[in-house]
Amino acid sequence: MTGGSIAGDGKRGFFELGRASRKCYELSVMKVLVVYWHPEPRSFNGAMFRTACETLAAAGHEVRTSDLHGMGFDPVSGRKNFTTVKDPDYLKLQIEEMNATETNGFAPDIEAEIAKIEWCDLMIWQFPLWWFGLPAVLKGWVDRVFAMGRTYGGGRIYESGVFRGKQAMLSLTTGGPEEAYQKGAFNGDIAAILRPIHRGMLQFVGFDVLQPQIAYGPVRSTDEERKQRLADYASRLRGIECEAPMDVGIY
Ligand SMILES: Cc1cc2nc3c(=O)[nH]c(=O)nc-3n(C[C@H](O)[C@H](O)[C@H](O)COP(=O)(O)OP(=O)(O)OC[C@H]3O[C@@H](n4cnc5c(N)ncnc54)[C@H](O)[C@@H]3O)c2cc1C
Repeated sequence: MTGGSIAGDGKRGFFELGRASRKCYELSVMKVLVVYWHPEPRSFNGAMFRTACETLAAAGHEVRTSDLHGMGFDPVSGRKNFTTVKDPDYLKLQIEEMNATETNGFAPDIEAEIAKIEWCDLMIWQFPLWWFGLPAVLKGWVDRVFAMGRTYGGGRIYESGVFRGKQAMLSLTTGGPEEAYQKGAFNGDIAAILRPIHRGMLQFVGFDVLQPQIAYGPVRSTDEERKQRLADYASRLRGIECEAPMDVGIY
């Protein structure tokens, strides 16, 4: 961040950020949803999750969470997604999703998650990169919660998506070091690895996407370096409302 001010009346004044930025005037409190999965609460992911929640709340934003491990979220999609039935003979999920949208027929666990997405201005996903993608529980959350009719469909996708005007950001950790995630390097370009999530999930339902927060190889770092990364993340989050969306790129 190159500079910032808080006006005397408590409203935010003008900000310019070092990264891709937009000018912020009078931006008020944001509603932030943090969706998090890791099987170990004391993990570095757990520390990043708590850093995000505490920092955003301290900055005056409203924070809600989906701690998928803590909730015991069931990631396996099926008829249990619904309280209603359109076709009892053949399960076609998107047909049942459209029917549930029209009849208020989502199961309570799915309805609660969709409502949180509808509520938020900014959604953050905190997770470890597993097999170049989302860990299964978070992927299953997307499978069950991004329901046709309610979150996309009828031409309401991408730039016309249901969640237009909202922002999303991935916050992830890797096992590999940063130098392994460059174009032509050992694992290749991290932007390309994340594109199916950025483009095929988040932008598909209408979100603008902020630059991902990536903690490369926390296991390889010293305790001091890890603490510094948490401090850097907190520092970024204190100006997050001023960041401009990134160009996700094309396939
Ligand atoms: C199935 C599977 C698939 C995988 N696929 C990939 C892949 O495709 N690409 C890839 O790069 N990696 C992959 N990995 C590795 C994985 O991404 C990393 O192990 C993970 O991202 C590391 O994050 P963590 O939160 O689990 O770290 P942890 O091991 O939980 O934490 C690292 C260190 O941080 C410490 N720590 C916790 N809290 C704090 C704090 N507040 N301050 C300072 N230190 C703290 C912990 O004590 C620990 O020493 C895979 C792993 C699995 C199991």
